Amino acid sequence: MNFHILTLFPEMVEHGLCTSILGRAISAGILTVNAVNIRDFAFNKHNKVDDYTYGGGAGMLMQAEPVYLAVESVREKAGHIPRVIYLTPQGTTFSQSMAEDFSKEEDLVFLCGHYEGIDERVLEEVVTDYVSIGDYVLTGGELPAMVMIDAIARLVPGVLNNKDSAEFESFKDGLLEYPQYSRPEVWHGKEVPKVLLSGHHKNIEEWRFQQSVERTRMRRPDLYQKWLEQKDSCKES
Ligand code: SAM
Repeated sequence: MNFHILTLFPEMVEHGLCTSILGRAISAGILTVNAVNIRDFAFNKHNKVDDYTYGGGAGMLMQAEPVYLAVESVREKAGHIPRVIYLTPQGTTFSQSMAEDFSKEEDLVFLCGHYEGIDERVLEEVVTDYVSIGDYVLTGGELPAMVMIDAIARLVPGVLNNKDSAEFESFKDGLLEYPQYSRPEVWHGKEVPKVLLSGHHKNIEEWRFQQSVERTRMRRPDLYQKWLEQKDSCKES
């Protein structure tokens, strides 16, 4: 899978994405990260890509043409027209199900804004998905792009060593994951729940499921409510 990141700070995403699990997947050729510097498409000798906003107001805006040319360059490289995600606090909040949907693409383009954002006209022409990582405002789209890429990349086959570790995790079936324990059996006087030492797989599975339900109810009542509703609608149909 190929991630193309259009940014004013390519070194930020290159450094952020090329270590650990993602770094290994890049070295293995399972993923590629193509950081495109929007400044390379500036049309003035100072490589300036921002200007004042019409109508007044504080702050600068990224101009349409360099962004458009950067997107065009990626389309040419990919040989088709990939989805273009604009990272913005005004977008749909990113979720695990969106990560699953995006992970099916061969190429994805992430457009990172800075300053006050990007001229609306180019967004209208090139953006297919407006995505936010939460209801707060950051200085740029680079960190949100990295958050999304990390979540999407680990769903791409071959990126995680142990296939199971992406299958049974929080949000998979609308529930949070159960608590987990490793050695030693007793730590600070706290014992690992007996059932996990029993070797009885059916009982372990049942315990984990109950723990998932209870944890979701306590920590994320909004998710729990949705899970209950889904369960009831499955029963009815
Ligand atoms: N003026 C914009 C607004 O009010 O919607 C905010 C611009 S923000 C200072 C600069 C850039 O950071 C945005 O263009 C976007 O790419 C990125 N950004 C900031 N917060 C974000 C969030 N919660 N999710 C995704 N991207 C975000």
